[in-house]
Amino acid sequence: MSERKIDEKIIKEIEELREKIRYHNYRYYVLNEPEISDAEYDRLFRRLVELEQKYPELITPDSPTQRVGTEPQKGFRQIKHRQPMLSLDDCFSEEELREFDARTKRFLGDVSQIEYTAEPKIDGLAVELVYEKGRLTVASTRGDGYVGEDVTANIKTIMSVPLVLRQKKKGLPVPDLLEVRGEVYMEKEAFKRLNKEREEKGLPLFANPRNAAAGSLRQLDPRVTAKRPLDMFCYGVGEVSDLGPIKTHYELMRQLQQWGFRVNMPYLRLCKSVDEVIEYCNYLEEIRDTLLYEIDGAVIKVNDLELQKKLGSKARSPRWAIAYKFAPVQETTKILDIEVQVGRTGVLTPVAILEPVEIGGVIVKRATLHNQEEIEKKDIRIGDTVVVQRAGDVIPEVVMPVKSKRTGNEKKFKMPDHCPVCGTKVVQKKGEVAIRCPNKNCPAQIRAALKHFVSKGAMDIEGIGERIIDQMVEKGLVKEEPDIYYLTIQDLKKLDGIQDKSAKNILNAIEKSKNTTLSRFIYALGIRHVGEHTAQLLAEHFKSLERLKNASLQELLSIKGIGEETARSIKAFFEDEKNLKNIERLLNAGITFEEVKPKEGSPIAGKTFVFTGALKSMTREKAKKMVIEKGGRVASQVSRNVDYVVVGESPGSKLNKAKQLGKKTITEEEFLKMLEG
Ligand code: NAD
Repeated sequence: MSERKIDEKIIKEIEELREKIRYHNYRYYVLNEPEISDAEYDRLFRRLVELEQKYPELITPDSPTQRVGTEPQKGFRQIKHRQPMLSLDDCFSEEELREFDARTKRFLGDVSQIEYTAEPKIDGLAVELVYEKGRLTVASTRGDGYVGEDVTANIKTIMSVPLVLRQKKKGLPVPDLLEVRGEVYMEKEAFKRLNKEREEKGLPLFANPRNAAAGSLRQLDPRVTAKRPLDMFCYGVGEVSDLGPIKTHYELMRQLQQWGFRVNMPYLRLCKSVDEVIEYCNYLEEIRDTLLYEIDGAVIKVNDLELQKKLGSKARSPRWAIAYKFAPVQETTKILDIEVQVGRTGVLTPVAILEPVEIGGVIVKRATLHNQEEIEKKDIRIGDTVVVQRAGDVIPEVVMPVKSKRTGNEKKFKMPDHCPVCGTKVVQKKGEVAIRCPNKNCPAQIRAALKHFVSKGAMDIEGIGERIIDQMVEKGLVKEEPDIYYLTIQDLKKLDGIQDKSAKNILNAIEKSKNTTLSRFIYALGIRHVGEHTAQLLAEHFKSLERLKNASLQELLSIKGIGEETARSIKAFFEDEKNLKNIERLLNAGITFEEVKPKEGSPIAGKTFVFTGALKSMTREKAKKMVIEKGGRVASQVSRNVDYVVVGESPGSKLNKAKQLGKKTITEEEFLKMLEG
């Protein structure tokens, strides 16, 4: 057979891709300092796979598609794995999951149905623990899949890794040789704390919990590892001398748990079909943000161990498993410029203008940089390539610069001395990082205050969006919040695109908003440090605006959950003549409050709840809403003021704190019963 001629361009592209991937592997696996996002890496990798599939004659054994990770690094003793530690094939869509199912069935001789397990894909690094006669003898990283790094001393600093296995009297005997594999990771909160500490010390930051976990475990000095809050979930085995009657992955995981390993049982699902797998993947993606640890997808495995054996492995990955990857939360892009935004309370916030980048299906063009101090600590400059993150409902933020990509043309940024909108000289209070524009008539502040005032948690005026507010301020129709209630049809028709009908709709929405609750009204006033929760506390305590207005500092401070800064800010707000006049105008316009007394007989009235772990029957947001509707309160941290800690699946450090403080913990079921009374 004659060899086919392959275009030089293709050969070159393949070579370039391999070189790039090798370089990024080094930065990721060895230095723990990636230069590109995982999503970008995945794109390079996929392109290489695609080309190699088209031109299999160009596959070489040293291509990154045929290998796992990178070689173990010098300084670590090398550990040969008895069975290779492979990677996983990945897929990104429902369709690809179905293809995996079809492929697996075909390979097994067209079986009609396969049972799978599905579990979270923990974003950490793979480690193998070797137990001989029930004792931990060696722990190693995956390395290049064949030889890993000896991290035994480091692994021993992780409290949840058993040094000696548990043998139940009637339980299955611990095998003489047991190799257990799992993922070492760092919880999201712990990662944030670690980065904050590093920021303060001027040390380079970790882009995400995975890099922090890898950087913390792969330390030549285990004393450094001991100081890092690492944890481990076990999800599989290597060589085992005898598995006894265990026939499935699911049973194996249960057994590992009994021997003393930490297994993610609450999220391990048995799926009878690929449809159930897909359903689980969608569910997991939905609750992803509520988990205490970062996950980047789900791992789907053939449940039957005998079938796993039949399916076997390819060079880099087993045929019996696949990773279903979620939409990414991080990307790398460039900072084109830094703009300064003026908020409702006059605070100036630097905002990075980015080269537009898609993160998890949304185009991100701007990301917050918080303040000058943050910019300096992270050393972020205009022109930098940066890691940008967008997770859940949180505003996109710049995580860190990729310093290795600097060209020398990047420019440092300095916050201005004057408000960029009204030109007033800015002020900075002692001890505060924020700088602010002191001019209460600054149009930027008016716009931001109005946006807050009409927002959902505040007066909830539908139909007045950002565009309309911008125009109202620009045309001088509204200078302060109460002006909204004195607008006429004629006024509204001065705005672009507003005719009779839409003007009437807006007026109706304004009218409707007049009937509100005291807590919403307090929140709408936009008092510094008074968010929805504090507004609720104030409404419940004072029950009337009059009493709140006249409250002494002492009384404010006596309210559980209100600290000194907030109390002072409330006091100052109601001492300001202009604010009092505004309130009067609002009330004269006909605003009335519904009494906010907790509903008669509500079993949770006045009680404060904290949630930890994931709830099964609803999102955390929904649960919070239900508590508030029934007159209860929700706090984000466990403190002395908390009454109940609701413990969901995979609870986090809040559970420990609750135990320390002797707080009552309840299950999701008990919580639901409590709500029903
Ligand atoms: P992978 O992380 O995509 O998948 C395999 C790994 O998943 C396993 O080795 C195991 O460690 C882990 N895993 C987590 N939970 C698991 C579970 N429940 N069951 C089984 N395994 C589980 O593959 P990889 O080979 O470790 O790394 C490749 C990925 O790493 C890329 O897709 C990319 O996202 C990232 N990467 C990024 C860069 C970069 O420069 N940004 C460079 C190299 C790799």
